[in-house]
Amino acid sequence: MPLEQSEGFILRTHNIGEQDKIVILFSRDKGLFKGVAKGARKFGNRFGSSLEPLSHVRIFYYEKEGRELVTINNSDLLESFFDIQKDLKTTYTLSYFAELIEAFFPARSKDDVLFRLLQSTLLSLQSGADLDFTSLYFEVWFLKISGILPDFKRCKKCRKVFDEIHWLPYKKDGILCSRCAAEKEIEVPADFNTFLNWIKKNPPPKDSSVPFSPELLKSIRKILRSIVVFHMERVPKSLRFIE
Ligand SMILES: [Zn+2]
Repeated sequence: MPLEQSEGFILRTHNIGEQDKIVILFSRDKGLFKGVAKGARKFGNRFGSSLEPLSHVRIFYYEKEGRELVTINNSDLLESFFDIQKDLKTTYTLSYFAELIEAFFPARSKDDVLFRLLQSTLLSLQSGADLDFTSLYFEVWFLKISGILPDFKRCKKCRKVFDEIHWLPYKKDGILCSRCAAEKEIEVPADFNTFLNWIKKNPPPKDSSVPFSPELLKSIRKILRSIVVFHMERVPKSLRFIE
């Protein structure tokens, strides 16, 4: 078996057996895949700190045909995002990103845009960007890349242009104007498109400035997370800790 290599982010690991770890990796060229890192829990093992969540690594592995798990031989740490995970909220927010990628992206399908989104979001947090705002930035792009960000430009039913409060229906597949919405549970504020346009035109923030009001961001957060929960059919584990 030839030794292969792939570059990616560690989404999470969990223990298996007495000394090993299962590693879930989101790689640039192969998308999501899993491997076993033998001996990764032994004292002084060859993996060092490279298997910490969200580490950017290059792994070297063997693959046997028909097996779901590859065997990870060793890994090189390219970039560590360990420092930004000193507070719990950042740790949970990053595991929320990882949980979304694992839940929405099928194994072994690469997505370069998503890969770059994750990388630039992490770099942005490392340079001191506001955690909540950067998280919304990630969520908007994530939903867009996943194809589940609804059209926020017009009412789904009567096509009325979205210029005043609209409503997010149960199926989260569009927005409805006040006349068409039967249930008025989740309000979509008129400024929502201003926010979306900003996100589409700008890279993730590099400093702690936030160009929108906390009230607007709060209602946007509620909208985006209700879309996530609807499609995932459950509340992400990490989201319970964040909230
Ligand atoms: Zn309508």
